[in-house]
Amino acid sequence: MKIRILGYYGGYPYDGVGTSGYLVQSGNFNLLLDCGSGVLLELEKYLDPLQLDAVLLSHYHHDHKADVGVLEYYWQLHSENRKENTLPIYGNIDDKINFDGLTWNDDTKGIPYHENDTLNLGPFLIEFMKTQHPVSAYAVKIIEKSTNKIFVFTADTKYFDGLINFCKNADLLITDTNFYKNKQGTKWHMTSEESGYLAKQSNAKNVIISHLPQYGSLNQLLYETRAEAGSNINVKIAKLGLQFNI
Ligand SMILES: [Zn+2]
Ligand SMILES: [Zn+2]
Repeated sequence: MKIRILGYYGGYPYDGVGTSGYLVQSGNFNLLLDCGSGVLLELEKYLDPLQLDAVLLSHYHHDHKADVGVLEYYWQLHSENRKENTLPIYGNIDDKINFDGLTWNDDTKGIPYHENDTLNLGPFLIEFMKTQHPVSAYAVKIIEKSTNKIFVFTADTKYFDGLINFCKNADLLITDTNFYKNKQGTKWHMTSEESGYLAKQSNAKNVIISHLPQYGSLNQLLYETRAEAGSNINVKIAKLGLQFNI
């Protein structure tokens, strides 16, 4: 399974880099996980968007779905050479207005996923866990059927202990790490220290911290995460275009 980072900032794009988006590939299957601001432009560098097999959204905050509308137009304006006749876009149905927006003519179609159902999608089995966030958001576990490799994406969430079991033994864990260790007050995202703790407790093999802040020193964020995770865990910081193979 290959995971490529197409955007990693939280909230809004910054300095030429967009918000949440990851291309997850196995064999010739292409899954776009989140479709934030700037993600379509970045995707076009690597893959004709008509070659997508599916899109999956963790939640409907704009930094995770801002480019869904323009992706729908891309499909509408290219009726030839599509890999699929209609692009399936998976999302939660807790928010019906946003879910309904995933269907555009016959070009794209919204399909619901559910927390207690495993989604069998091409080469993947996909599981979901509701996170703690101001709107319904779901952490996503993607298991490659042919290898049993596990990729977990925490989506947006504050830290809570229930994440540990869901992230258990991930070959790659991508965490929402939007805050430095010293963040005070209400937190709807994890701090560096909490990401490191989650990595350690869940025995993740590799961790990429993402959903990054636009301020401060990202080296400091990485340092704080590594200090908590310990030296057994390979912790990296998200980089645009970085591809990780597991
Ligand atoms: Zn976000
Ligand atoms: Zn969010």
